[in-house]
Amino acid sequence: MDLHSVTAPCRKTLVLAAVIALSLMAFAAIGQTDRAELLEQAKSLRNDDPEAALKLLDRALADQQTDRYSARELATVAGLLEMRAAVQRGRAEYDAASADAQRLGELAKRSNEPGLAADAAFLQGSIEAERGQFAAALDRFHAARRRLEGIDRPVELARIFNAIGVTHNFTGDQARAREYFQRAVDAARDAGAEGAAATYLGNLSLTVAELEGPRAALPMLREVLQLSEETGAETTATMARANLCDQLVKLEEHDEAETTCLAALDEVDRMHQARWQAGIRLTLGHLRRDEGRLEEAVDWYREALAIASASVPTIEDEVLASLSEALEDLGQTAEALTLTRQRVALRDQQRQSERRELVEELEVRYEVERSEADLELLRLQSALQKTQLQQRNMMLMALLIGLAVTLLAAIGAVRSYWITTRLKRDLATRNSELEQAVAEITDLARHDSLTGLFNRRALEELGQREVNRQQRHGEPLSVMLMDIDYFKSINDRFGHAVGDEVLQSLAALLRENLRDTDLVGRWGGEEFLCILPKTDLAEAEHSAHRIQSALEAAPIQTAGDPVRLTVTCGIAAVDTRLDQAIQRADQAMYRGKHEGRNVIVVAGRGAPDPG
Ligand code: GH3
Ligand code: MG
Ligand code: MG
Repeated sequence: MDLHSVTAPCRKTLVLAAVIALSLMAFAAIGQTDRAELLEQAKSLRNDDPEAALKLLDRALADQQTDRYSARELATVAGLLEMRAAVQRGRAEYDAASADAQRLGELAKRSNEPGLAADAAFLQGSIEAERGQFAAALDRFHAARRRLEGIDRPVELARIFNAIGVTHNFTGDQARAREYFQRAVDAARDAGAEGAAATYLGNLSLTVAELEGPRAALPMLREVLQLSEETGAETTATMARANLCDQLVKLEEHDEAETTCLAALDEVDRMHQARWQAGIRLTLGHLRRDEGRLEEAVDWYREALAIASASVPTIEDEVLASLSEALEDLGQTAEALTLTRQRVALRDQQRQSERRELVEELEVRYEVERSEADLELLRLQSALQKTQLQQRNMMLMALLIGLAVTLLAAIGAVRSYWITTRLKRDLATRNSELEQAVAEITDLARHDSLTGLFNRRALEELGQREVNRQQRHGEPLSVMLMDIDYFKSINDRFGHAVGDEVLQSLAALLRENLRDTDLVGRWGGEEFLCILPKTDLAEAEHSAHRIQSALEAAPIQTAGDPVRLTVTCGIAAVDTRLDQAIQRADQAMYRGKHEGRNVIVVAGRGAPDPG
């Protein structure tokens, strides 16, 4: 777009639009600091200049971007809304106040803040209660109570208890009001909120006054007044004083009532609360009436009616009744009648709404009972959860124990495996040692300990094997029995030790002169048996000669003198039985002994073979 082509009026419009846009931007750009500052200013102006305070609050709340607040901004905006609603309530602008309460509720919902939602419900309920919509108010308060009980906010909860008490008080249910006020006092004291506790104690005292008479409430009210003055709670002190005034008037304590009520009037007017302003004037009217100052009483009643008609419908009827009575007493019956008619009309109107209220209140009561049932349900659920948790803990414990047992069992198994393995290894070692020992024993059992040759048992056993083999293969097998000649005399001459040496040397000589396959053994004493496989008689005889020759060639060397010796041999062939062959060889050998010794005799042959 070409700016130069724009006509003069057009350009003017553009400039204006730009200025408006800039101002709007400046307006929209109210920051957090500005807002917080405006809130502080509005707070300080609130009582003295509500108009100015409202303007400041309107400016601070002009920004519509309500969903973009940080936590701090949210708190400030909520504070602004609550403050504006409070100022508006003070001016009886209930619709505007209610709209702000609604805005606060929406803000709470968007930011998901249960505390803020409770605040909004409390605010809305307070406005409704002030407008005489008690059932709706109770509904709001109980909603706020439920939210607060869920998030542990004792101070706010105490405030709600109090509000519920106040509302029950309005509906004439004093017993219930008393119960809630007591809960409020207790909750506030528990939370250490002494100022708030004083306020609620004030309310409790009023209910006590209604239930038990003004006398019972007086000490309580004096305590509240003292407490609130000590804690600097001005509003509470004002209310306490106003209430004290009311009770003193009822008790006809005129002197104390006079000072107390006038002081209260002054404070109440500074507070800008329509209900209290109307109320204190009504009480002052009663005081004057009791004192017999009827004109003054009428004046106070008229002031009270003006305020009540404008903004406090809850006490309008009472004010009308008092005024019409006073006028009647003054003889102004015409006006009194008009007022009574006005009252009847108001009553009809109120009765209708009261009926509605009653129905609604029943629903609220039901709601309260239901919420109590909900609470019981919650309690049961939490007990169930506790039990479940305990069960889960027990299961966990059992699991842990199971794990521990499994672990121990595993350790035990590993340990027993190790032990078994070690035992098996030890056993294998022992076994092999045993086998070795057995082998050694077997070996020992087979050999002669002196000469190391086979012993008689081994010769019989091994010889039988050779016999079996000979029978299988048809090979010749011979036995040769050899006995040392005159061995006794060797022993006698050289001693047994030398005799032993001789036996050992002969054994060695036999082994040297025979084949490895020949079985050589000690048959007994100084007798030796040789079993000669694959050897016929001639070959056996040859072997015997070789031994005799060797003995002849050299004497046996001993530790002492060399010993010369000869042997006599008997030879036999094995046919089928070894024992018979040995027997024949033995017989042949004996024959050789008889024939003069140092000879070789072959069994079955006629003549002996000379050595
Ligand atoms: P012959 O020529 O008739 O065979 O006479 P001999 O003295 O050899 O026979 P005899 O049977 O009378 O004596 C055998 C001797 O051998 C008796 C015995 O003390 C001795 N003798 C037997 N066994 C051993 C031994 O192990 N060591 C020793 N030193 N002598 C033994
Ligand atoms: Mg002998
Ligand atoms: Mg001998």
